[in-house]
Amino acid sequence: ETSAKIIDGKSIAKQIRDEITVEISRMKDTVGVVPGLAVILVGDRKDSATYVRNKKKACESVGINSYEVHLPEDSTEQEVLTHISGFNDDPSVHGILVQLPLPSHMNEQNILNSVCIEKDVDGFHPLNIGRLAMRGREPLFVSCTPKGCIELLHRYGVDIKGRRAVVIGRSNIVGTPAALLLQREDATVSVVHSRTTNPEEITRQADIIIAAVGQANMVRGSWIKPGAVVIDVGINPVEDAKSAKGYCLVGDVCYEEACKIASAITPVPGGVGPMTIAMLLSNTLTSAKRMHNYK
Ligand code: NDP
Repeated sequence: ETSAKIIDGKSIAKQIRDEITVEISRMKDTVGVVPGLAVILVGDRKDSATYVRNKKKACESVGINSYEVHLPEDSTEQEVLTHISGFNDDPSVHGILVQLPLPSHMNEQNILNSVCIEKDVDGFHPLNIGRLAMRGREPLFVSCTPKGCIELLHRYGVDIKGRRAVVIGRSNIVGTPAALLLQREDATVSVVHSRTTNPEEITRQADIIIAAVGQANMVRGSWIKPGAVVIDVGINPVEDAKSAKGYCLVGDVCYEEACKIASAITPVPGGVGPMTIAMLLSNTLTSAKRMHNYK
């Protein structure tokens, strides 16, 4: 029986954070610049609060200054825009992140559009996504989760050029940019979504699968071509009586089955999740370097 190599996102993310720490301290010593990340959180969603807390902790661990604004659920869109505008003008801030989802009374598009593209470390501004889609154009930033997926493929020496890739999911923040990135890397890419007929048959043709759906264990072993590389972005809580919290987190891919068929696979947790944060730190450092013309 074969068993897939486990793509250890946690340890690669640690390696990347160590590299970033060294670069930040060198930049501080030579030009006196400390990168800064501003995070705007609106409302009291527990998951969002956890993500923001983790991002802040990660910033501290590498030497990035973090500035957090926490606004109540019933804030107005204008209040959020005012904070963004302040951060856009603040030279000590090199990255601005608006934690999604926003309360439903706010227009997400307006808010994401208002982050200046030079500080759009989440890569959600339409100009950055548009440039990602264009031949011969470079986005200033690429969204952290898809970038983390590709970084894992690179660091594990997975060939992308000329291979068949399937991305399951087409959200603006994960699926679509992941597909665009794979295409930029010269893969032949198919995108599977909720209206796809026979997703199993299409997925089975892939040498590389990126699953970003939000459906626990949806991708079964039978969907996977023997030897394929599987990147599982999904984070889905499922009931688990054995856990103290009463639930555990699983991916979009049925891990037990996939392990026996894939050549390599990311676990959940410990795969893509830690890479997302590492890429956010990396984008913030890149931004500070670019603004200060520091190589
Ligand atoms: P969205 O809900 O925005 O998008 C889900 C996508 O999956 C949509 O394009 C949808 O299709 C598609 N989809 C839904 N059901 C099916 C189905 N049965 N068959 C095929 N496609 C389907 O989710 P996100 O992209 O934001 O997130 C996806 C997952 O990744 C979630 O579990 C989320 O928690 C996780 N995530 C993890 C991150 C990390 O750091 N590891 C970061 C961000 C997200 P359609 O477009 O047709 O509706």
